[in-house]
Amino acid sequence: MSRNIVVRTPEGTYPISIGTGILRDGEELVDGVNTGKQVAVATDSHVGPLHAGPVQAMLRRAGLNPALITMPAGEAHKNWASLDLLIAGFAETGLDRSGWVLALGGGVVGDTVGLAAALYMRGVPVVQAPTSLLAMVDSSVGGKVAIDHSLGKNLVGAFKQPAAVIADLATLATLPPDEVANGMAEVVKAAILDGPWNRSPVGAHGSSPLLDLLERGAAPSEEMVALAIEVKKRIVEADPYEQNQRALLNLGHTFGHAFERLSNYTLKHGYGVAEGMMVAAHLAERLGLAPPALTERTARLLSTYRLPLTWGSSLPPGTTPEQVLAATATDKKRRDGRPRFVLARGIGDVHVESNVPEAEVLAALAATRGDA
Ligand code: NAD
Repeated sequence: MSRNIVVRTPEGTYPISIGTGILRDGEELVDGVNTGKQVAVATDSHVGPLHAGPVQAMLRRAGLNPALITMPAGEAHKNWASLDLLIAGFAETGLDRSGWVLALGGGVVGDTVGLAAALYMRGVPVVQAPTSLLAMVDSSVGGKVAIDHSLGKNLVGAFKQPAAVIADLATLATLPPDEVANGMAEVVKAAILDGPWNRSPVGAHGSSPLLDLLERGAAPSEEMVALAIEVKKRIVEADPYEQNQRALLNLGHTFGHAFERLSNYTLKHGYGVAEGMMVAAHLAERLGLAPPALTERTARLLSTYRLPLTWGSSLPPGTTPEQVLAATATDKKRRDGRPRFVLARGIGDVHVESNVPEAEVLAALAATRGDA
């Protein structure tokens, strides 16, 4: 039994299956992804030894011929060298355009393998099989794939919609606790975004099925993952190529990316996003856009999942608000050289603000600094 969500894209639709154990017995989920028998299972050095065996066995039972390609784990390997390794692996295993690729891993695998699949022979289908919570609720959905460049994160990328997404919560049993928290930051973000897409904004005190789950402190479940994916689905369907509404998914990310960059990427993405959501909440409050109750609610949600409420602990000692503001300057989401901030006025009432006085941003950063 699995929960199923269908995502519409300009190029067609793709199914997302959410269940437990569905990669081990997923024959019908991979049936007919493409016409050939050759499949490249591309994974990383952590996930492969834990989860690739049963997936390969399932693919063989489905009458396919799987090859295993393993890239080194970690953000530092979301790079040209891994892209080259993957493309060489596809070629060496004889993959042609009738075959396809299964990306088995977290967001690093999904992004790197997705880009390799977009480029190899001008494109072969990719099935995303996310194994981290973050990849399940965020990176595997929406079709953005990329590698990092020495001049910037995700600088080399493409839009490559998956042929299917298979989110098997059984894989989360081996995910380290800090990686679970990392993914929970994106689930909290989804809960704050949830609203205008299916109902009217619900203010600082409103509720939704996803918020109810989080406020009970629930552990990740099929229901939680499905509800978070629904939020992302509605936004990417409305804006598949990131022209407008998709910017809302960057709640907490303008500051989060700056913290990640200043930490030299030692700070995990979700932790940066949590810190960034707190800065954004304080900023919205300072600007009179949101009530203090929304900042308090955001803080309660994040602390329930042991996420940080203040920034600085992963940054060089003495990092100032001015340095953080300067580090937002290379954010891809800037327009006309001005930073734009995604701010929540209430639950489900999130918008992009571009005319924010610098002094207010600095004050919000000062109020949320770890030693403030
Ligand atoms: P990750 O892929 O590095 O995974 C985190 C760690 O957990 C890695 O060491 C990985 O090997 C390990 N791991 C993954 N699944 C496991 C499992 N089931 N058991 C044991 N270990 C496991 O990082 P992530 O947090 O999954 O993803 C972060 C990446 O996603 C970043 O590069 C970010 O830019 C990208 N991202 C992309 C999008 C998008 O829209 N494409 C959205 C958000 C984030």
